[in-house]
Amino acid sequence: MLKLGLVGIGAIARKAHVPAIESNPDLALVAAASRHGTLPGIASYTNLTDMLEGSPEIEAVVLCVPPEPRFDMAREAIAAGKHVFLEKPPGVTVSEVHALEAAARDAGVTLLASWHSRYAPGVETLRQRLFSTPPTRVNVTWREDVRVYHPGQSWIWEPGGYGVFDPLINAFSILTYILPRPFRAVSSRFETPSNCAQPIAAQVLFKDTEGVEIHCDASFDQPDPPTWDIVVETGAGTFHMQKGGAILSHDGTVLVDEPETEYANLYALFAGLVRAGRSDVDVTPLAHVADCFLLADHHTVGPFDESIPAPGA
Ligand code: NAP
Repeated sequence: MLKLGLVGIGAIARKAHVPAIESNPDLALVAAASRHGTLPGIASYTNLTDMLEGSPEIEAVVLCVPPEPRFDMAREAIAAGKHVFLEKPPGVTVSEVHALEAAARDAGVTLLASWHSRYAPGVETLRQRLFSTPPTRVNVTWREDVRVYHPGQSWIWEPGGYGVFDPLINAFSILTYILPRPFRAVSSRFETPSNCAQPIAAQVLFKDTEGVEIHCDASFDQPDPPTWDIVVETGAGTFHMQKGGAILSHDGTVLVDEPETEYANLYALFAGLVRAGRSDVDVTPLAHVADCFLLADHHTVGPFDESIPAPGA
């Protein structure tokens, strides 16, 4: 059994990581490190350093903290000879992820830059369909209410917090996996609240190497329910992926509609990588986010106040 220490006991650690670890017989959760959160029946520490000292049997560290503090923690874990599982996005900058990859290689440990949305049920089917029927146009709509999905998460508005790109990078992780040709950002428009460092809405246009357009519309200001959709038009009909990849249809016929098993699949991947002595570090979705920030046409909008409902709610 691979012995894990979980760092950052927040929303995703409780909702996804703990259940996925508990359901995998190859894994054992032995400790947690969080300034405020604890897990019942697990050795609890307030920081990573104390966890590494107090629970030396840990073989791998899972970092569920926001992106900003992650680099130093990953460095510390790698230096201690631990395998590292990074939540998405893998870092605040592209270069820091490359540095972690090099550090893991030098230390002979596994590094996983995880992209959970790639394991949504419909994603692999759509990817395989697009091998034979390349897209002619792609529309991504990634809109949700930040008050519902990120309540109290002030880090998301700070430098390095990604703003609306925190969810939109999930769509980018799907696009970079399913689309048969490389693509590049050609324009991006940001709407940033006057009291925040990160955008609350963004419109991005990518083009692939054949000029096919990929339009992305993202917002943190849509009242529930969210829209996490990707529509891919091809010469052989239109594919519609909904609910972040849980549902896939083709010209109205449902091809896939399954409960999500994203984190179970990610942990199976991580355990396999450790066994094989390999890493999996794909920075492509992060590089696209960085390009969007480089190209951004910035617009300032009114201040964000979490206590005020989304327009139309
Ligand atoms: P969260 O609820 O804010 O939890 C993160 C935890 O990290 C906090 O509870 C906090 O616990 C700890 N932390 C340590 N250093 C911190 C710092 N400098 N600033 C803020 N918190 C710090 O966030 P989350 O939703 O779990 O997201 C964490 C990561 O998972 C993000 O990268 C996000 O993109 C990713 N993710 C989230 C979701 C989702 O649906 N929420 C889904 C997939 C992936 P202590 O205060 O106890 O230390």
